[in-house]
Amino acid sequence: MTTTAVLIPGDGIGPEITAATLRVLDAADANIDWVERQAGVAAMDAGDDVLPQSTLDAIDEHKVALKGPCTTPVGKGFQSVNVQLRKAFDLYAAVRPVRNMPGVETPFSNVDIVVVRENTESLYSGVENEITPGVVMSMKVATLKGCTRVARWAFNYAKQRNRRKVTVFHKANIMKLTDGMFLDCAGKVHEQEHSDVDYDTMIIDAACMRLVQDPSRFDVLLLENLYGDVVSDLCAGLVGGLGVIPGANFGDDGAIFEAVHGSAPDIAGQNLANPLALLMSAVMMLNYLADRDGNDAHRQSAERIKKAYDEALTNGQKTRDLGGSLNTDEFADVVIQNL
Ligand code: ATP
Repeated sequence: MTTTAVLIPGDGIGPEITAATLRVLDAADANIDWVERQAGVAAMDAGDDVLPQSTLDAIDEHKVALKGPCTTPVGKGFQSVNVQLRKAFDLYAAVRPVRNMPGVETPFSNVDIVVVRENTESLYSGVENEITPGVVMSMKVATLKGCTRVARWAFNYAKQRNRRKVTVFHKANIMKLTDGMFLDCAGKVHEQEHSDVDYDTMIIDAACMRLVQDPSRFDVLLLENLYGDVVSDLCAGLVGGLGVIPGANFGDDGAIFEAVHGSAPDIAGQNLANPLALLMSAVMMLNYLADRDGNDAHRQSAERIKKAYDEALTNGQKTRDLGGSLNTDEFADVVIQNL
């Protein structure tokens, strides 16, 4: 059974890691019919809008996409395409599994954390004003609906995956209304619907210190949007960096899979980027499609790919960011040989 999915290569290192990922998926007989669309700088370079209607229509039709990174201009320019897409499809739960990879040595050997990030609210509302010259403000938004649904998502996920605990990071001592609401909603969902899952709360600054002291004490983390963004990268640093952290953005009616890292302009176009985070995101997509469509072939392809990249890493066949010497294409070649 073939599944149709949207492919957005993105820009920067996006096209290189996407091409490498597609080669592996093809070799693993992942039966996906790709509908390719552009977004971000690549779309503008092609003379289109930053987020073309044809891209939105394709995702709306097929309900699932694999997306490469899209550059977001700093301090000026268009609103992040990543944020626009998450809002357009109400993909309110970003999920980033963080765990040790075989053959990647780090100070910790027992990291197994899943970051669940609220994906549509907080300071990503995009509402910023100049009150008067020299005074600017940014609006942090929290809603009962937004806070409750992501909490429910995190607890459901914890239960389905047999995880032991959900920990909320917050700063409700300072942001009493917004973070207070996030905390309150998580507490209520726990108490009323999921009291069989352990639940813990921590003020985010102390939580970050504890994360880098002993990550093994954490399991599922539930965070509002900005904290989730920052803590995802912090967690990436615990297990070897951004090259090994996949991601998925889930809504009630669709999902977009993308690596946590950005477009890495410093190494773009040089065949140096690690395609693994996008490949791992594609594996997450295959497992999601297997569940969605009851298509076991997708799960088998996912399993084969995972084994193949684990074997590559175990044998020290790694890209430069992980201390190896392979380039993007060479790493994909090794994974394909291992299939
Ligand atoms: P964005 O704002 O688009 O998320 P960013 O500022 O977080 O981007 P990244 O593009 O993620 O930055 O890059 C951060 C650093 O990590 C850069 O030095 C980049 O080269 C490196 N990096 C990111 N992704 C990869 C990858 N797949 N392979 C190797 N190095 C990477």
